[in-house]
Amino acid sequence: MIPITIISGFLGAGKTTYLQHILNCRNTNERILIIENDFGETSLDAKQLSASGATVREVTSGCICCSLQGNFKNALIDILSTQDIDQIYIEPSGVSKLSEILYTCDDDDVTSKAYISMIITIVDAMQAPMAIKNFGPFFKDQIKHCYAILLTHVEDEKQVEKTKQLIVELAPHTPIYTDIDALQQDIHQLKSNTHKAHEHDSETCSCHTCNDSEDYNGAHHDNHSHHDHDCHHHDHQPFVTHTFHNLQSLDDTQWIDFCNNLPSTILRVKGIIPTASGPMELQYTPQSCAITATHLNDYHLVVIGTEIDISSINEKVCSAS
Ligand SMILES: [Zn+2]
Repeated sequence: MIPITIISGFLGAGKTTYLQHILNCRNTNERILIIENDFGETSLDAKQLSASGATVREVTSGCICCSLQGNFKNALIDILSTQDIDQIYIEPSGVSKLSEILYTCDDDDVTSKAYISMIITIVDAMQAPMAIKNFGPFFKDQIKHCYAILLTHVEDEKQVEKTKQLIVELAPHTPIYTDIDALQQDIHQLKSNTHKAHEHDSETCSCHTCNDSEDYNGAHHDNHSHHDHDCHHHDHQPFVTHTFHNLQSLDDTQWIDFCNNLPSTILRVKGIIPTASGPMELQYTPQSCAITATHLNDYHLVVIGTEIDISSINEKVCSAS
């Protein structure tokens, strides 16, 4: 049986950084396959992850929890029947519902060869209050269905406490980590706890009625939404994405100014940008903006938000041609 780890998290929380960390620390003989799902049309992350020696399968231009559910399931089944691998990591798009992904994985063609061994949700401590308030259904679903939470951007202690409080209300039994190494140290223990809690199969699952036992990790309690899956199909109405090409070369500071002046409807910007000092990788969320040198040079900018003024962004960063 091949263990599957799902790395969930809202837009820009740090899912790829976490995966990169795992890849860098792994036993080199281990064959890892990553299913990378990007809401936008290109996946910058996939290029970086495959550079670290993992096999990466991309499922882009939509979300594997809804519009690309079929593509995702087929990719997973295909991988399980054709690839010789030791571990699978799934990185869903930041706007995925974890419950929908678990529902998709709950298929005989998958469960005969693999099992969900770990589900981690990465939460940006600075972003969490906004995400819960404005995008509750997506965010809460990710918190409620994971086995452990890793907080990122934990510099502000007050903010960290506030975010922990919000999480505890949603998932009182789920362990919260603020340090990636501490999480990795506990990971085997977390996995075995989770197995005790999940020894039932879906046919006989009585989670709707069972009481918390001592062994029960409780992370997903009350959350077997797949049992009534047919009643709650969702779409991604609140989110749109656009990829800009034809970018013009600007100074670092001009790119940062551009990001800092984006309207609050923009939740995520990332891509490879041309600057006076060469190609740079741009990573933006409303809480942070970073530009770092990169060897990649296929210039593009993916923008995700609830509303995108394409012509206004075009005017600011694309060359008139
Ligand atoms: Zn979805």
